[in-house]
Amino acid sequence: MRQKLVVANWKMHGNLATNQQLFKAYLEKLSTLTDVDVVVCVPYPYLAQAQSILKDTRLAWGAQNLSKDAQGAFTGEVSAGMLKDFGATHVIIGHSERATAYCESDENIATKFIQAKAHGLTPILCVGETLIEREAGVMEMVVAKQLDTIIHTYSAAVFADAIVSYEPIWAIGTGLAASSDQAQAMHAFIRSKIAALDEDAASRLKILYGGSVNPQNAVQLFVMQDIDGGLVGRCSLNAQEFEGICRAASSCQ
Ligand code: PEP
Repeated sequence: MRQKLVVANWKMHGNLATNQQLFKAYLEKLSTLTDVDVVVCVPYPYLAQAQSILKDTRLAWGAQNLSKDAQGAFTGEVSAGMLKDFGATHVIIGHSERATAYCESDENIATKFIQAKAHGLTPILCVGETLIEREAGVMEMVVAKQLDTIIHTYSAAVFADAIVSYEPIWAIGTGLAASSDQAQAMHAFIRSKIAALDEDAASRLKILYGGSVNPQNAVQLFVMQDIDGGLVGRCSLNAQEFEGICRAASSCQ
C-alpha cells in the first residue's frame, strides 16, 4: 500500500520569524498524525532552519529546485549534494512557475530528476497542461510528452519510489481545483503509462495532485484510487488549513 503524502510548497514566502511560527504550528498539529507522510519544501536559505527545527520529528523537508549539474562554475545554482548537506530528502522539479518563468526544457528537467535520484533525494516531478490544452482535449498528450523525455533518456524504472505531481496549470493558485474525476483520470493515465513499461515502478510511484487543494476539497480528491496525496501551495502557509488537508489524507488511507 502506498502511504498518503502531503507536500507543502512554500514558494517564495516567509522569513526566519514567520517560518519559526509556522514550523512550530505544523509540529503541534501534525506530530501525532502517524499515517500520513508530510514534507515541507522551503526556499533555499531556510533549509538550515528547517533542519534545526524539524530534525528528529515526523516532518521531512526539501527544496523547490536543484541544479542539473553536480558542481562547478554555475553561479547562483544549488546542487543536489548541497541539499543533502542540509538534510533535505525531497526536491520539487519542473514546477510550472519555474518552467514558464525560466524556460526550463524537458531535457533539463529530466537531468535534474536523475541528479536528484543519484544523490538519494526523492524527486517530485510536476506535470500538467494549460487550460487551452485541456479545452483542446490534448491534456494526456501533453503530460505524456513531459514524462517521455525521462522515460526515453533513462527508463520507466527510474519512477520507482519517485513522485509525480499532476498539477493542471489552470488550477494552480486559482481556487479552481480539478474535479476528482478529472484528476483521477489523469493519475490513472500516468500510472498506466509507466505500468506498460514497468509494473513494479508504477505500483511504487506516488502520484500527487496539486492545484488549489484546500481542506474542503481534499477528501474528494484523496479518496480516488490513484491519488496518493497532494502538493499544496497557498493552504500550506496556514497551519490550520494545512492540518485540515493532512487529516483529510489520513481519513482516506
Ligand atoms: C503549487 O504551487 O504547486 C500549488 C499547487 O499551489 P496552490 O495550492 O496554491 O494551487
